[in-house]
Amino acid sequence: MPNSKIKKRYFKNRKKNASKAMLFLSNILNERNLTNDTLADSVAKSIMRLGKKHGIRTKKDKYNNFCRTCQSSLIPGKSCRVRISNGFILNTCMTCQRIYRFRLDNQDSEENNDESPITYNQICKK
Ligand SMILES: [Zn+2]
Repeated sequence: MPNSKIKKRYFKNRKKNASKAMLFLSNILNERNLTNDTLADSVAKSIMRLGKKHGIRTKKDKYNNFCRTCQSSLIPGKSCRVRISNGFILNTCMTCQRIYRFRLDNQDSEENNDESPITYNQICKK
């Protein structure tokens, strides 16, 4: 059956294609297109959707830039409020008032343990 062959090929490349798309989307956020609110929100939404569907994640520091309740991007001073209290960073989403807490001292050690970031060209070569 030709149909099953096509399906097999699709499932083989599914995760690869998804991680390519994820990298493309996170690069858009890297470019700091923070002036365009709708772009940042739609990128956040599609990164969340991709991650749920294919079981892949962006880097942890990127993941903290989205609100998981209302699926919008958290831009400090614009769509989220940042406060520090008792050794915690408190990020409050201004749309749904959800609060995200991050420990101050843990963040540095996690960043050092991270592997070197994968560039878009490296994934294309594979
Ligand atoms: Zn929110």
